[in-house]
Amino acid sequence: MSSSDGKLRYDGRVAVVTGAGAGLGREYALLFAERGAKVVVNDLGGTHSGDGASQRAADIVVDEIRKAGGEAVADYNSVIDGAKVIETAIKAFGRVDILVNNAGILRDRSLVKTSEQDWNLVNDVHLKGSFKCTQAAFPYMKKQNYGRIIMTSSNSGIYGNFGQVNYTAAKMGLIGLANTVAIEGARNNVLCNVIVPTAASRMTEGILPDILFNELKPKLIAPVVAYLCHESCEDNGSYIESAAGWATKLHMVRGKGAVLRPSLDDPVTIEYVKDVWSNVTDMSKAKHLGAIAEASGTLLEVLEKLKEGG
Ligand code: NAD
Repeated sequence: MSSSDGKLRYDGRVAVVTGAGAGLGREYALLFAERGAKVVVNDLGGTHSGDGASQRAADIVVDEIRKAGGEAVADYNSVIDGAKVIETAIKAFGRVDILVNNAGILRDRSLVKTSEQDWNLVNDVHLKGSFKCTQAAFPYMKKQNYGRIIMTSSNSGIYGNFGQVNYTAAKMGLIGLANTVAIEGARNNVLCNVIVPTAASRMTEGILPDILFNELKPKLIAPVVAYLCHESCEDNGSYIESAAGWATKLHMVRGKGAVLRPSLDDPVTIEYVKDVWSNVTDMSKAKHLGAIAEASGTLLEVLEKLKEGG
């Protein structure tokens, strides 16, 4: 939907944004509402390490939206109770079209110092919370043949980051979750993509250098997420990195690889592996594969080659 002035609109759409009481989520919620969506502003309102709860964070954003003439309701549930979050959308607005899984906390510790509680809480909020909210919204989206879902990953997950074992594991887990949600929803126009943001927020205060912190406004990322959630955007299963008024698509790639034995009748030996290791790890002919079937397909080619060799 777009208005006569060419602006992309979300009239009639209901958007649930988790963790929308601050930072990136707040910007997403404000933008969706400004462009006509009815918004559920979910936020538990705890500390950045996940302690406590307060209704204040969500209430302030709902007030902001209403004062600007938009429509919004607050939801104070933890995303771990995803069904309750989605129920708020259904009760208030009767549907859910857009779900931005954004809520997050940090409990940074090195591997050895990470307690089971630190591991569980961070994974519960990011990964399980996104799963629970998505699982609850999915049947409504499938039934109406329309849905746009965002998972929030992080460069910390993609590249690793000292002192963030729990967070980085959860953030890569979200990419795996998005991959499968994208496949399961495609037939019903329920599309799922990943945002990989870098922005100044309480989460990155003291972590990002000042010169970056001041320029990385969350507001600069909101239009990217909003576009991914618009009916005119047909991307599905994309990972989009964005920061500072810039965005790019990310891909996983696979090298050409090397066979590890002369023929089908030969064993694979450690020595042979060592001999061809530079070919195994050569990424000069790396390719992006679009689906698991392509990955299995190349294994059939390998078997053919080995048969020829034997
Ligand atoms: P933020 O701390 O400003 O906002 C996160 C919000 O989530 C907070 O308002 C918090 O109250 C809420 N929240 C926490 N636990 C919740 C729960 N269980 N249920 C509901 N709400 C909960 O952080 P941000 O920087 O805006 O981060 C938003 C998302 O982006 C997070 O998932 C974060 O991991 C991700 N991210 C941020 C950056 C960055 O540079 N800021 C980089 C990579 C990824």
